[in-house]
Amino acid sequence: MLIYSAENRQEALLIVGLLQQTGIEVTLKNENLQGAIGEIPFTHAYPELYLLDERDETLARKIITEYESSREYLKTIICPACGEENPANFPSCWACEASLEK
Ligand SMILES: [Zn+2]
Repeated sequence: MLIYSAENRQEALLIVGLLQQTGIEVTLKNENLQGAIGEIPFTHAYPELYLLDERDETLARKIITEYESSREYLKTIICPACGEENPANFPSCWACEASLEK
């Protein structure tokens, strides 16, 4: 059964890794569709994760939900001057006002 449609191949492989760590078996479809675009509607070209055993669904969805919330959390940058965490879209550090622009 389809458990997740990833935005890209990296994300798909990351989630496959997370699920396999807990012993959940998944297969990945549409992993490499370059070249197939044109034959398949583009919206169907996202990598799709399929569970091999439907009994894993509850746990798999929990892991994916945790992944999605941690992904939001990880969008931070560390201030090089004082080491405080800042949201990735801050132009300067909230704590010491050092520039965070690259
Ligand atoms: Zn700072």
